[in-house]
Amino acid sequence: MTDSEEKTQKRTRPLYFQLVNAYDEIVRMAVREVMGKTDMCKCERCFLDMCAIVFNSGYSHYVNTREGELLKKIPDMNLGNHVEMMVQVMHAARLVKTFPHHGPDEIVKAGSPL
Ligand SMILES: [Zn+2]
Repeated sequence: MTDSEEKTQKRTRPLYFQLVNAYDEIVRMAVREVMGKTDMCKCERCFLDMCAIVFNSGYSHYVNTREGELLKKIPDMNLGNHVEMMVQVMHAARLVKTFPHHGPDEIVKAGSPL
């Protein structure tokens, strides 16, 4: 394949975009951390419930990004912002621990259909 053929192929390759929450990764990491230190159910459902509470409390900033591309706009996380987020994550842990969305016998494993 010549250089120009390769360039043409790259140009004609369809671009895929995806809508992602810029806070997604940082919130998931914080939730895993707090969950690990809290005496509570550690199932996937409780994990996702906690994430949902934190996202819905204002930690969502959607950006359109090319598939596979690193986020250009990573949320500005100084120490103050981080502490604020951790407070929200701990609040979510208390809520999910007190009001789990499943009974005590239905521990939901990662990857199992909800
Ligand atoms: Zn659970």
